[in-house]
Amino acid sequence: MCRHLAYLGPPVPLSSLLFDAAHGLAHQAWAPRDMRGGGTINADGFGAGWYPAAGGEPIRYRSAMPIWSDAALPGLSASVHSGAVLAAVRSATVGMPVVETAAAPFLHDRWLFSHNGVVRGFPGALASLAAALPVEDLLTLDAPTDSAALFALVRHQLRAGKTAEEAIAGVVSGVSATSPGSRLNLILTDGERIIATTVGHSLSVRTTAGSVLVASEPLDDHPGWQPIPDHRLLIATPSDVTLGEL
Ligand code: GLN
Repeated sequence: MCRHLAYLGPPVPLSSLLFDAAHGLAHQAWAPRDMRGGGTINADGFGAGWYPAAGGEPIRYRSAMPIWSDAALPGLSASVHSGAVLAAVRSATVGMPVVETAAAPFLHDRWLFSHNGVVRGFPGALASLAAALPVEDLLTLDAPTDSAALFALVRHQLRAGKTAEEAIAGVVSGVSATSPGSRLNLILTDGERIIATTVGHSLSVRTTAGSVLVASEPLDDHPGWQPIPDHRLLIATPSDVTLGEL
């Protein structure tokens, strides 16, 4: 299943998260260590979204190719510095298309979103929840995948005035009820806070003075990495991490 990460802190080159770390995202793409519930390799696309240091909405780069096959990416990512990043590599769920638009992060206004997992029984099992969405949202899904549909549900909650953590927790509880057995490791960020969940997949967090990094798997052997137990809601800023139950 997919691997994803989010970083907040002083600006760093994107390459430090993707390529330079011993077990950075590009390494996790072909040699993941903790793939729970199926999947062996994350070769069905990748994406990175980052918030420009000068401010403004996030910028995104996605592809349907394996991350290791993009020959320009190591150099490009070394030249882009950001203090707020969300990146992912994808292992498509069986039956879902391998296209650029199905790769996380999904983007809307200032929000970036990623999903590691699967909605059991998609699309039928999601129909009752999706029925509450405006038709235009359904017609403009990035891709016909569970992850894109989950982001539409999250966006709808945000538009209704919910906080990011309320939106994420609400979608996890709704989907868990209608699609039991779903795996729902989500990450949502606005570039200032990271909201992440663990439902069925691995996640670890590492804080340093003034930075936080949340990732499916630790990027290196540093003892500061903390594994997050299952069924948790993590809310992180560069100076604070709180964990709640889901
Ligand atoms: N089900 C999602 C997709 O196909 C996420 C897959 C994953 O976590 N491997 O894109």
